[in-house]
Amino acid sequence: MERGTGSRSRQLPDKTLPQVWIRELAFLVLIVSGFGLVGLWVGRFVIFLLCAIGALLVWHLYQLFLFSRWVESPKRHPPPSSLGIWGAIERLTRQMWERGRKRKRKMGRMLTGFRESSSALPDATVVIDDLGRMEWWNSAAKTMLGLDRKRHKGRGIHEVLIDPVFHAFLTRGDYSVPLQMPAPVADNISLEVRIVPYGKGKRLFQARDISRVLQLETVRRDFVANVSHEMRTPLTVIHGYLEAISEAGEEGLGHWHNAVEQMSQQTSRMRRIVEDLLVLSRLESDQQAQGQEIVDVPLLLENLLAEAEALSNGQHHITLVIDQPVKLFGNLSELESAFSNVIFNAVRYTPEGGRIEITWGGDDQGANFSVHDTGIGISGEHLPRLTERFYRVDVGRSRQSGGTGLGLAIVKHVLIRHGGHLEVQSEPGIGSTFSCKFPPFRSCK
Ligand code: ADP
Repeated sequence: MERGTGSRSRQLPDKTLPQVWIRELAFLVLIVSGFGLVGLWVGRFVIFLLCAIGALLVWHLYQLFLFSRWVESPKRHPPPSSLGIWGAIERLTRQMWERGRKRKRKMGRMLTGFRESSSALPDATVVIDDLGRMEWWNSAAKTMLGLDRKRHKGRGIHEVLIDPVFHAFLTRGDYSVPLQMPAPVADNISLEVRIVPYGKGKRLFQARDISRVLQLETVRRDFVANVSHEMRTPLTVIHGYLEAISEAGEEGLGHWHNAVEQMSQQTSRMRRIVEDLLVLSRLESDQQAQGQEIVDVPLLLENLLAEAEALSNGQHHITLVIDQPVKLFGNLSELESAFSNVIFNAVRYTPEGGRIEITWGGDDQGANFSVHDTGIGISGEHLPRLTERFYRVDVGRSRQSGGTGLGLAIVKHVLIRHGGHLEVQSEPGIGSTFSCKFPPFRSCK
């Protein structure tokens, strides 16, 4: 029987706390003054007063004792008196418990809902604690990671995903970039792994099967590479014939001269696009630069400066500043391709009379190649998209100056393969600075 949770207090009028306290104090004053008056009447004022205070103290101490027992185990012990302040305290305590119970029920419902919805998710979801121990997982995690409740509950996630790269990712603590890795159940399944920290030291591990996406990506890359490759030979033949025909000159070709000139220009453009597409496909095929050596960057830049001057044809003032003659560990032809794209862009997008400064240097933070120009500049909204394939701020201008729209995409991929990144600062009408940053371990004296 629920002795302690009876309905006594519910029958109490719901007075506010200040009202209860006023009544309690009035009652105290009444008792003490009653006893005082009787004491005065019988000539024992102090004794009667002390008796009254003592009796009240004992009663309240007893109620406190009842209250503490009741709070500890409300089903086994009765609550304190329902009179006065103790009744109000009982009522408030019950209200607090009721609120707590409601909150708990709500949390329970939310947790059940979360578990049910997570179970229905196609992505593997695992709750791990601060030490990486697995506390809970959904059914997708069972199939994708091969988790078994009996064998794996409480075990570290790194014991299931035994991969040094994943271990480094887990312990690094920076989960802003997801990790790609093979699934522990089958090597041909590729997973994209994310970790989301939440609560006190908890982490939510999520793995998505991206095998299909990667397969489509490979199909796309192969398609572009194959088409470019197939177009290369016919274009070379057409271009060769057009060159030969155009040698006949204006007299020999008559009114066809202009047409042949234009055909020749367009085939040259198409050949450049095909060449750039082939370079991009090669760069995309793996993340690491192949055939690496110590590249004498100052020497490479001297050669590129001469080429830039030839392209500029005396229209610009081009300078090369070598802050530190550091060399770079990387792939020569890839670096040449990246640096030349940035330098030639500066020449192509800087009007006549402009200045171009090529700088190379390195310190503890890493090596830095940068090209500053006083050219047309680029407004802010275009900057994040510059390295996308075929993204041009001004399509007409790019084509007119012989651009393929692939130069900065090549730069980005070369830098990724060398552990570096591209930074661009630009202001329309003022100029641009393109900086290629390399990590410190790439530079050598
Ligand atoms: P493109 O062959 O068209 O130059 P890129 O990929 O090399 O292609 O560059 C992408 C776009 O970025 C260009 O079309 C141009 O609009 C802009 N751009 C690149 N470099 C510069 C620069 N130095 N100054 C102004 N705009 C530039």
